[in-house]
Amino acid sequence: VPKSDASPKQSEDLRSPICCIMGHVDTGKTKLLDCIRGTNVQEGEAGGITQQIGATYFPAANIRERTKELKADATLKVPGLLVIDTPGHESFTNLRSRGSGLCDIAILVVDIMHGLEPQTIESLNLLKMRKTEFIIALNKVDRLYDWKARRNSPIGMTLKKQTKDVLSEFNRRVTHVITQFKEQGLNTELYYKNKEMGETFSIVPTSAVTGEGIPDLLLLLVQWTQKTMVEKLTFSDEVQCTVLEVKVIEGLGTTIDVVLVNGVLHEGDQIVGPIVTSIRALLTPHPMKEIRVKGAYMQHKEIKAAQGIKIAAQGLEHAIAGTSIYVVGPDDDLEDIKEAAKEDMQSVMSRIDKSGEGVYVQASTLGSLEALLEFLKTPEVNIPVSGIGLGPVHKKDVMKASVMLEKKNEYATILAFDVKVTPEARELADELGVRIFIADIIYHLFDQFKAYIDGLKEERKREAADEAVFPCVLKILPNCIFNKKDPIVLGVDILEGILRVGTPICIPQREFIDIGRIASIENNHKPVDSAKKGQKVAIKIAGSNTEEQQKMYGRHFELEDELVSHISRRSIDILKANYRVGSEAEDPLQNSLNITTKWTGALLLVSGKL
Ligand code: GDP
Repeated sequence: VPKSDASPKQSEDLRSPICCIMGHVDTGKTKLLDCIRGTNVQEGEAGGITQQIGATYFPAANIRERTKELKADATLKVPGLLVIDTPGHESFTNLRSRGSGLCDIAILVVDIMHGLEPQTIESLNLLKMRKTEFIIALNKVDRLYDWKARRNSPIGMTLKKQTKDVLSEFNRRVTHVITQFKEQGLNTELYYKNKEMGETFSIVPTSAVTGEGIPDLLLLLVQWTQKTMVEKLTFSDEVQCTVLEVKVIEGLGTTIDVVLVNGVLHEGDQIVGPIVTSIRALLTPHPMKEIRVKGAYMQHKEIKAAQGIKIAAQGLEHAIAGTSIYVVGPDDDLEDIKEAAKEDMQSVMSRIDKSGEGVYVQASTLGSLEALLEFLKTPEVNIPVSGIGLGPVHKKDVMKASVMLEKKNEYATILAFDVKVTPEARELADELGVRIFIADIIYHLFDQFKAYIDGLKEERKREAADEAVFPCVLKILPNCIFNKKDPIVLGVDILEGILRVGTPICIPQREFIDIGRIASIENNHKPVDSAKKGQKVAIKIAGSNTEEQQKMYGRHFELEDELVSHISRRSIDILKANYRVGSEAEDPLQNSLNITTKWTGALLLVSGKL
């Protein structure tokens, strides 16, 4: 357990705020974490930083030491800061604890050289959804051309040392990022200019390489949380605890890694999650400087929030990452607590599509599952979900997803977010024809699914092409009757629409008598697949194979008769489903309806089904 900070200024009743780091890949999240962890703090002066399970703890004394140049260290009320160790991982940053976000505050990292990137926006949406406060670290300032680094310096002091050119480049880039945030509906400002914290989000320029701006970031995190979140940070007896991961550890069996957000846990406490059990051991890693025995942990009688802890107990293999752990107190009713524990799961279940048609979604934690469901529901995405699962994709999940093969084939798909697929599940999926898309970034899943659906549409369009009848009206050109029958060969003027090989042709004036299908088209003596309104072409019409059903120019139709594509209800449906396009002029469906209207009720009557 981290030694409690001895400063008299600290309030006994506040717990450490919990912070996570989010942002686009390669913006420097890991490096930033390493940097604030103090790999750049001199040897022997690690300043009480302790490695915990899934998190790093920074005691107030360490933060005070590192921010002294800012001369603002007078009042640190919180005992320290707990930073979640897995940066950028939605399944961690999106965890909840009893309804609210697990993290009290987040650092959203943006690369000053790149500005906002897709995952920045995805992180932003998660933060908005969770209503989580955040500070923007505008990282990699050292990459500005001609930057003069001053290691671990507050940003104000280092900016004073820069040339005019560097400053103007810095300002230009900051302004650009502020504009980009504005486009996302957010007001942001450099933190030292920000007069309306809370409404305007603060930007701290940083470098994870030189440590510049890190003092500012640490101080702002602590000051902002202790100023605005007193209630949330007030120590309570009620345990608030969230499962980060379920892990098998040699010698301990299945354990859970948790973040104890508030309250105290004791060895022997009866706990309720998806299971009811008792804590056998409360474990943390050995402090860094002690001899590290592989796999050995420090055992505790009790642990006070906020901390990252490993819990060993019976039956933990049934625990679910992302759910809350409840402790049964002496006056509590076990059944009530079991009910409360179930609610976490039910709130997610309620988001599933009621129609029963939709894809199957699988995620690593309840929090990430919820985030994914939320995303799939947004109007731009709009993918219905019929089933959900947590943890690795097993055969049973493939079985469940395969129900859609019959109902709506394209939904026989598993969107697997940040989870593994067992080889047996993969095999079964291949056998049944269930598709599995895997990604660890939400929007990549969407991209994959969308690409698949688009491909499917193209394929259907190709398949439908044979049956799709594009409407056209043809006028026979005089002196261009090359062959009267078997086959009919004529020169025609295309009055309306598109003429394509394969189009069935009828004569509306003569009770819609069918004369055959277009077998070929020639434009200027060259064979073509299609021709448009205004063109004059030669066509060959292949009729029926039987002599008596063959139609003939001069007997069944005459020069003055218009030749029209024979449109049926089915061909209209195919056009509708596959060829509908935005503009009316090009829309074959619209054209077909116009032509249908031209031939009024007659066509409707003859095709019977319209
Ligand atoms: P993550 O994907 O967000 O965790 O990014 P990393 O921490 O792995 O950093 C990505 C790359 O950017 C690495 O090569 C880092 O060394 C580099 N990097 C990170 N922060 C900075 C910075 O402040 N300045 C410079 N020059 N490079 C940085």
